[in-house]
Amino acid sequence: MAFDVDVLVIGAGACGLAAAIAAHDEGASVAIVEKLDRPGGNSSLSTGSVPAANSRFQREAGIVDDPATMVRDLMGIAKETDDLALVKRMAEVSAETVEWLIDTVEARMVLITAYKHIGHSIQRLHAPVSRRGLDLVDDFLKAIEKRDIPLAVGNGVDDLLVEDGGVVGARIQSTEGTSDVRARKTILAVNGFAADPDLVKQHCPEIAGAQYFGARGSHGDAVKWGRKVGAALANMGAYQGYAAVAYPHGSLLSWTTIEKGGVLVGQNGKRFGDESLGYSGYARVVLEQGEFAYAIFDQTIFDVAALEEEFMELVNYGGVKKADDLQTLAGFFDLDPQAVTAEIAAYNEAAEGKHADRFGRTNFGLAALKAPYYICRVVPGLFHTQGGLKVDGDARVLDQQGHAIPNLFAGGGAAAGISGKAGALGYASGNGLLTAIALGRLAGRAAAHEIAQAKA
Ligand SMILES: Cc1cc2nc3c(=O)[nH]c(=O)nc-3n(C[C@H](O)[C@H](O)[C@H](O)COP(=O)(O)OP(=O)(O)OC[C@H]3O[C@@H](n4cnc5c(N)ncnc54)[C@H](O)[C@@H]3O)c2cc1C
Repeated sequence: MAFDVDVLVIGAGACGLAAAIAAHDEGASVAIVEKLDRPGGNSSLSTGSVPAANSRFQREAGIVDDPATMVRDLMGIAKETDDLALVKRMAEVSAETVEWLIDTVEARMVLITAYKHIGHSIQRLHAPVSRRGLDLVDDFLKAIEKRDIPLAVGNGVDDLLVEDGGVVGARIQSTEGTSDVRARKTILAVNGFAADPDLVKQHCPEIAGAQYFGARGSHGDAVKWGRKVGAALANMGAYQGYAAVAYPHGSLLSWTTIEKGGVLVGQNGKRFGDESLGYSGYARVVLEQGEFAYAIFDQTIFDVAALEEEFMELVNYGGVKKADDLQTLAGFFDLDPQAVTAEIAAYNEAAEGKHADRFGRTNFGLAALKAPYYICRVVPGLFHTQGGLKVDGDARVLDQQGHAIPNLFAGGGAAAGISGKAGALGYASGNGLLTAIALGRLAGRAAAHEIAQAKA
């Protein structure tokens, strides 16, 4: 049987690029097809943060961590999952994945020590210095170019080619028409279904009304193709939301502003919940309370967030407004000044330990808020879904009986995630890219090994 390529990678985000590099480096011939006119997908929109438990960068910084602690952290917020083995596997390979990124892919990443972010009890996020996923994708693309791996943009896969119950490539649509590419192994790296409103309504109804803030490509193709070949699905109700997308700027208001002690109020000037649920878990709460919410924080918090490039861009575009008093601050967005003043006073008293916060918030960040103040109007967003094809520890797609579907692999948003069974509370920072890069790398390696074994 003639094949055009050993490994066909569908999708050129972090998962696909990692898979292609890993398969190539293990001796396989590889081709990547990407349906949009440029690579990167959601990965280039992300902040590029990837967690690792016990990386050498953590050890150098004196941070003690291990995969078991990471599993405890992830399950502490996820509570339930369809696939505990996957959570454990991701934690176990997280450090080697980040070290591979830095050593082999030559990604310019550092350990973040300034904050831990949602779901992590220890500083374990590693990210580009700029906190831009675009930089990570650029580094991936340089590694792809260095290896002469062909990457065809504007080539979307319509369907998988299936023979005798196994996958043998894909049908590709480009401006030149339709063509079949036959491959010994096919890796699905097409992300999830957050851009498909019907699938979101079906599987993640609680966030169905929120705007989608990810890349255009996430139409759930892996789920649609997977169903046809009998793949099992897992964790389909899980997703990552973001509670504070600056409006109308469309960029993220850094969650540092809230984590370090800021609050969110509604149009009535009042808080509506415990913001320390995190940027993902709190998105649904923001969606339920009204059209807009307003983040309020102070100079001390601003100075910490100012270390992040994207935050300062938002500031420079006028997305964050400053006032010396709360009355003036409220006036920027027609909020009731008395309500805002009373709300911040009550919050500050809770932060100072005078009484319990009425929403149960116990982490008040740096301190009670004090003048000068800042405000930013925000809306909640859906970033990506966390459910997908069930895979084994080497990213092989499994059928309903737990058997690998021959020659088919999946990772990243195409595969089931590690963020719990349903909802957004189980999303820990970096879960998206960890499963993209770790599963992509494992898929590429395993695909190449299977090919080498079959040829031997
Ligand atoms: C604003 C934002 C911030 C985020 N920040 C973080 C973060 O800091 N850390 C983290 O871990 N996660 C973060 N995430 C989530 C993270 O970006 C995703 O989980 C991750 O990028 C998924 O990687 P992927 O390779 O699976 O998908 P993608 O990067 O989206 O790549 C999938 C690619 O497949 C292509 N494709 C789709 N269908 C087809 C088809 N039929 N044929 C060919 N190509 C196809 C798409 O066009 C796309 O280019 C963030 C997400 C957003 C939106």
